[in-house]
Parts: sequence; C-alpha cells; structure tokens
Amino acid sequence: MPPTESLTERLARALAAGPSIATQAAAAALAGLRGCDAPGAAAVVARDDELCRLLAAGFGQEAALAARLAELAGAARCLGCGACCRVSSPTLYQEDLALLGPQGPGREHFYTLRAGEEVHSARLGRRQVLEQELIKLCEAPGGACVFLGPGGCAIYDQRPLQCRWLECWSGRHAGQLSGRPRLTRTQAFAGDHTARALAAEFERKLPAARLAGLLAAAAGGDDQAAEEALAVLEQDHGLRAAIGGRYGYGAAELKLLLGRPATAIARAYGLAVELDPDDRPRLRRMT
Ligand code: SF4
Repeated sequence: MPPTESLTERLARALAAGPSIATQAAAAALAGLRGCDAPGAAAVVARDDELCRLLAAGFGQEAALAARLAELAGAARCLGCGACCRVSSPTLYQEDLALLGPQGPGREHFYTLRAGEEVHSARLGRRQVLEQELIKLCEAPGGACVFLGPGGCAIYDQRPLQCRWLECWSGRHAGQLSGRPRLTRTQAFAGDHTARALAAEFERKLPAARLAGLLAAAAGGDDQAAEEALAVLEQDHGLRAAIGGRYGYGAAELKLLLGRPATAIARAYGLAVELDPDDRPRLRRMT
C-alpha cells in the first residue's frame, strides 16, 4: 500500500481486485476506524445492507463505500461487532434478577464465582482474589459469552445491565458499574430455602479460598498441597453428586448454586486430574 494512499484510493484498488478483496479491505478499514477487532468488523460489514450493495456494485463505488464506513465508525450506537462479548461474559447486577426467572434464557446458562476464588479480570488484565461472589453468564470454550452467535447476541433484548451499559464508542465501561449492588445467590434462590441452606453448608465444608490456596501451591510444585487439593476435588465431586441426586439439581444448575466444580477451577491453574499407573487419581500439569 503506498504510504500516502487515502481510504478511498485503497478501496478503489480493492474494488478493482474483486468483491472478496474489497470485502476484506472494507472490514480492515472499519476495524481501524472504529477500533473493533477483525472478526467483529467482518461481521458488521457482512450484515450491513448498504455496504453489501456497494461492494457488489464494485469499482466506482469507492467514495460511497468510504463514506458509509466512516458513518458506521462514528455511529453512537452498538454495531453488534461482538468484540466486547468475545473478551468475557458479563457479571450480573441486582437489576438483572429477572434473567434468572421463567422469562429468562434458563438457569443453566449462569454460574457463580465464589468469594475467595482467584480469577482473571478481563477489565483489569490480571488475576485477582474475589472478595464477594459474582454470578455470571457462562462462557463458550475460548472465553466468549455463550450467547454470542454468528448473528450477534442471541438475547440482545434481554441482555444484562453490564452489556447495556458498555459503550465502546463513548468510552463508557463496565468498571463504572462497580458501585452498584451485584446479584448474589441469596437473591437468585430467594424462594428456595433448601438451596440457600445447601449452598451455605457447601461453603462451610469446602471454602473457595482454601481450594485456591492449595491449587496455587500445587501449581507451584508443592506435592503435599497437590495431595490435599486432590482430596478437596474428590470431596467436591462427592458432595455435588450427593446434593444433585438427593435434591434433584442438575449439574448445570449446581454451577449456579455451588459454584464451578473444583476440577474446572483446577484447570484455570493448569492442573488436571488423571489416573496414575496404579489407577489412583493424581493432579497433572497440563501442557
Ligand atoms: S449477553 Fe449478549 S451482549 Fe452481553 S456479552 Fe453476551 S452476547 Fe454480548
């Protein structure tokens, strides 16, 4: 690309090369102008009727194409690029309580991070120990929100407060919600005394902070901690099976009621359970 080439000139060159190259150039231009990621810009270009029409019309439409891209880049609204949804899933606030009700997408799509767990904060860009529990939407493999699909957000009209608050075009970010009360399991299970009692008992028996400490030490090579962590993992598995079997909670709802299974937490430390040659379970560092 010549160093002084304008956007219009670049688009003209791409349009002359054919629709596929032109579409890529339009997405790259939008990503640069708007600051969204490449997959998000490509999705916006593919969904915008005006851009699709201009790209199909080909060479000669470069000025109109550049104008439409500039218009989209400066729009004070969500373009549905999904860039924020790919970073992580949202945390719920008290305003989001209805999402867990019968009109919501289903309780199996939520989970709890317990106080004392060490988690990665996408906003802070580092790991932190949680001082209070968080309820979140589940994530797909790779970390994106489970509701992000090829067509954008599958629950857009019901999306949580954090998603509605965030404005990439204005700089409004999730951290500005930190003063608002977050949703807790006490509220999520307000009408279910048994569930709340089970969660409290589980917390007493298997505090998240103890597991976090053992896993951190085990990941650092402490064999004694690895042995103890393994015992906690077995206890966690047994308690979940017992609670699920006796009270009828499925594995998906247990993620919300009791937090993530200890094996899932161990994976965040790079540790997995495997059987040794004598068929005894042990913790192994994942490569
Ligand atoms: S709920 Fe929708 S808007 Fe919010 S992170 Fe998930 S996909 Fe994105």
